[in-house]
Amino acid sequence: MADIIQLLPDHVANQIAAGEVVQRPASVVKELLENAIDAGASTIKLIVKDGGKALIQIVDDGIGMSATDARLSFERHATSKIQKAEDLFNLNTKGFRGEALASIAAIAHVDMQTKPVETELGTHLKIEGSKIIFQEVTAVPKGTSIAVKNLFFNIPARRNFLKSIQVELRHITDEFHRIALAHPSIAFHYYNNGSEMFNLPNENHRQRIVHIFGTKANQKLVPVHEDTQVVKISGFIIKPEFAKKSRGEQFFFVNNRFIKSPYLHHAVVAAFEGLIRSNAYPGYFLYLEVDPGSIDINIHPTKTEVKFDDEHTIYAILRSTLKHGLGQFNVIPALDFEQNQNLETPYAYKDREAAQPGVTVDAGFNPFQEVSTKSGTTRGGYSGGMSSSGGSNSWDSLYVGLQSEMDSKEEFNSLKFESDTITGSIFKGKYEPEESNATTFQLRRKYIVTTIKSGMVVIDQSRAHQRVLYEKFLKNITIKEAVSQQLLFPLALSFSKSDMEILNEIKDSLSTIGFVFGKMGKEQIEVTGVPLLVTESEVGMVLDQLISDCQMEVSEDNFSQTDILAKTLAKTLSVKTGEILNSASQLALVNDLFACKETRVSPFNKPVYITITENDIDKKFI
Ligand code: ADP
Ligand code: MG
Repeated sequence: MADIIQLLPDHVANQIAAGEVVQRPASVVKELLENAIDAGASTIKLIVKDGGKALIQIVDDGIGMSATDARLSFERHATSKIQKAEDLFNLNTKGFRGEALASIAAIAHVDMQTKPVETELGTHLKIEGSKIIFQEVTAVPKGTSIAVKNLFFNIPARRNFLKSIQVELRHITDEFHRIALAHPSIAFHYYNNGSEMFNLPNENHRQRIVHIFGTKANQKLVPVHEDTQVVKISGFIIKPEFAKKSRGEQFFFVNNRFIKSPYLHHAVVAAFEGLIRSNAYPGYFLYLEVDPGSIDINIHPTKTEVKFDDEHTIYAILRSTLKHGLGQFNVIPALDFEQNQNLETPYAYKDREAAQPGVTVDAGFNPFQEVSTKSGTTRGGYSGGMSSSGGSNSWDSLYVGLQSEMDSKEEFNSLKFESDTITGSIFKGKYEPEESNATTFQLRRKYIVTTIKSGMVVIDQSRAHQRVLYEKFLKNITIKEAVSQQLLFPLALSFSKSDMEILNEIKDSLSTIGFVFGKMGKEQIEVTGVPLLVTESEVGMVLDQLISDCQMEVSEDNFSQTDILAKTLAKTLSVKTGEILNSASQLALVNDLFACKETRVSPFNKPVYITITENDIDKKFI
């Protein structure tokens, strides 16, 4: 048999390697920014057009390259940063693989101009798909400028795979944030389609964070600091009361390199334990410095993961540093926090002697008496969710004529619609629980229990309300007739630039659900009207949540965007576990739930209720 194995030509090998290094425009931005930093630049300019699909250009004032180096830099495994294997264990640069430029040049049109400080003239080099188009001498200032155009021009599948301009831009901005945060002493300029997105001077860490995330970030930061032999930690954590409900600002840097580390993240979470709600995430900007020989950054091609020699020690030091920081700055948990207050002994009582417990009997208690629905002591947190027109008016009517053979949930659901019309007239007005023989019961501020002929239903109050609100918002969005309430005084809210970007994207959808916006500045937005169900004090929180959800679920089309909006609003505004609902509210919620199109699962696909039939109960008594 003839030999069949061949070495791949370089340009093919480069194209294959490019698949690893360059996933999207943001990867190019990362590689080129890192090269500029490695070149010792003090000012770096990033210019982007159409989310990087049309152009990514990076201009630095670093050491530049000689004509030969300029040519060599596009060869695979050509690097000035390491010479021997041992160098890998003492890395002080971002790059070391010598792969980036070769990969980028294999799949794009690259135009480079570069000049070291000591020569008079520089080099101008043009490469398209690994082919050198020309190389000439040129007069340029010291430093390097690399322009990358038509990314993936020769790999249509990859090009088509790119997301929308906004989404790609967001990835670029994320990458920019990470690098700019790691290097506050370098000045950065970032332009998108001709307009300036960021202009960051040489500054300190705190100023850099505030410059990127907006002035309101300043008051949220708690500094932390620790200097040990194993690791040096500095940076900031975000005060617990500002913790977001979804991953917000979470940045680890190791030796000025952004990394992701679930393990260290866990250390932060542990330090915040008891200070933030279980569904919120701590925010942090943490800079770790370790001996370069004690980490391995070589385990991931895109280099955001790092292996530490002494992970456990770093974990412990990190956790105690953060705890210390939180304590020192007197960051005390805000009141409440879903804890059962009954279980907590007020501090002053701790040392007192406990009194002999007495037994008191409510002589008037009659277990067979109907529950009064006019309980005035509880807080009615539920404010309904359905419009007064249409819909079922009584929850128990749903089960009229329901026989005990009703055992499957499906049957349960189909029956409610039939009974709607028959029973709609039983009550004179909306929600008149007093006249019904309805009994609902709230269990552990979490579930609403109601009886049906065949047994009982246990409803998760929060999920039920999410379902109700979700359908209401979706309806508003689809028929585009959301009711909004005008605010007496317009509300000015400030956001970071990237948050504003997202707000701009979702502005139209927001107005379909009842938000009205006035002036929109670079970092500020004026809200003049809000949806009926949103109170003025909630606006900021709701918008924050919407922004972070949209950030997480990079949505492409309008459909999924409105869906995210409706889900987020439902989640944010719903009655929560731990809220006491009075009987009227419980009843109204049950009514509204069973008037929904889908009752069984929440917008997040979690079960809303369970039924326990008499049969089930009987079985337990055997
Ligand atoms: P790596 O960064 O891993 O060494 P690259 O392909 O990114 O590999 O770059 C190859 C080489 O080109 C670098 O080692 C460096 O010598 C040179 N180089 C790249 N970008 C610049 C720049 N902006 N300024 C000066 N030299 C650069
Ligand atoms: Mg590099």
